[in-house]
Amino acid sequence: MIDGAPAIRVAEVNARPVRRDGAFVLYWMIANRRARSSFPLERAIAWAKELDRPLVILEPLRCDYPFASDRFHRFVVDGMADNARAFAGAPVLHHPWVERRRGEGRGLIEALASHASVIVADDSPIPWLRGMVRAAAERVPIRVERVDHHGLMPLRATPRAFPVAHAFRRFLQKELPAHLAAWPNDDPFAHLVLPRLRALPREITERWPALDRDELRDPAALIARLPIDHTIGAIEDRGGHTAARARLAAFLEDGIDRYPNRSHPDDDASSRLSSWLHFGHVSSHEVLGALGARERWTPAKIAKKPTGTREGWWNVSDAGDAFLDELVTWRELGAVRCAHTDDFMRWEGLPAWARETLEQHARDPRPALYDRARLVRAETDDPVWNAAQRQLLAEGRIQNYLRMLWGKRVLAWTAHPREAFDLLVELNDRYSIDGRDPASWLNVGWVFGAYDRPWAPKRPIYGSVRYMTSESAKRKLRMKRWLAKWS
Ligand SMILES: Cc1cc2nc3c(=O)[nH]c(=O)nc-3n(C[C@H](O)[C@H](O)[C@H](O)COP(=O)(O)OP(=O)(O)OC[C@H]3O[C@@H](n4cnc5c(N)ncnc54)[C@H](O)[C@@H]3O)c2cc1C
Repeated sequence: MIDGAPAIRVAEVNARPVRRDGAFVLYWMIANRRARSSFPLERAIAWAKELDRPLVILEPLRCDYPFASDRFHRFVVDGMADNARAFAGAPVLHHPWVERRRGEGRGLIEALASHASVIVADDSPIPWLRGMVRAAAERVPIRVERVDHHGLMPLRATPRAFPVAHAFRRFLQKELPAHLAAWPNDDPFAHLVLPRLRALPREITERWPALDRDELRDPAALIARLPIDHTIGAIEDRGGHTAARARLAAFLEDGIDRYPNRSHPDDDASSRLSSWLHFGHVSSHEVLGALGARERWTPAKIAKKPTGTREGWWNVSDAGDAFLDELVTWRELGAVRCAHTDDFMRWEGLPAWARETLEQHARDPRPALYDRARLVRAETDDPVWNAAQRQLLAEGRIQNYLRMLWGKRVLAWTAHPREAFDLLVELNDRYSIDGRDPASWLNVGWVFGAYDRPWAPKRPIYGSVRYMTSESAKRKLRMKRWLAKWS
């Protein structure tokens, strides 16, 4: 009996046999890019133990993923370097591989599968990752499993997408405690003995060589030669588990008490963890665990009965409640939506009332119309919006509150709300380091009324969709320093 991960998180992708005399077990690491606190990794270890086979961890990076750029590549390769260090002392063979030409990766999984016993792949609510695993599973003769560790709530334990956050919150409060009993191992290699594999077969290493030490230490030259978008540069934050844990520690030390004030751009009191969460460099179990350690909290403290409210259920501080509602309710709401539907990136996926009201106001006069190029270059007549766009270009992020405003204003500057919707999905996914994520599509949807309610009075252009202006943001929020920095 194989364990290593809760059964609800494991799914068979093809109905093929395990090759018991294969040369190794393969873990295909594409979403949970870390060496600890990972159910997929634990599942792969369990298979290696069961079959008494070495464990190979393939951590690949293609060059043709959506919006491939220096920004995303650098973050992922930083994470590979960090993982290479973490795996160095472990009984596994880590193969960090970067595709240098489009299509070069074709055949890699099949080649590995011709030697492997079984493949354990990351499951993900991100459609192209899930599709990639499904397609590969068709082509190989051995068992492929996908293991989900997107969040605290196993995706397969959710019955459907939820139209509003409070319905999902109620569901979580009922169902989540039972799943928290299975906690991922923070040190899955402690006392682990596995047969070692010195190297992959030559036909694989010659065609798909792992990054060498120099490339891992300084990937800039390698990345500069790849067929990806070099106009979107790397950001200052480094990718990888070590950087994620450092950021988490700094936030718990210095930011969380100020978290309730996070709307003020000058305070910038949010965790900034979304980028590392997006690339799986840190798990939400680790984040919850670290917060819990600070607050002497354990899952046993959760209220015995669902409260249905944001506050008082986890039984942590007020700041902790606010933070966990974002990390768990809102982050996982988007993932559940992606797992159960396929219209989350499309206008048609917005609630009917929102589409209707926006369509009714589609002919309202706009204060200005800006084309994509002007928006990208931050050349509007709104200095607050321009500043947010500049922060996005330079840092790959926008402060929390202003990100909402950034989205809302575009609605007023495009000829039709559909155009605004597609544009925002594209800009957010292309430039945000945490973009291309279920949270991206959920929140762009929010700009257009999804997960929100109709508001009165009706406004020109926005109809009953919630309306935000830069003037009122300037009045309400401390933003002088932020504005000075990005103006
Ligand atoms: C137009 C628009 C686009 C957005 N695009 C993205 C995106 O591409 N990727 C992304 O992760 N978030 C997105 N968000 C949600 C939110 O702005 C970011 O998650 C948050 O700013 C990340 O900063 P943080 O890590 O400091 O968050 P914190 O406030 O510290 O929150 C902790 C974690 O909770 C999660 N979280 C926080 N707020 C939300 C939210 N509203 N919805 C879902 N999860 C949330 C994130 O994983 C975050 O790291 C978007 C919001 C808007 C309005």
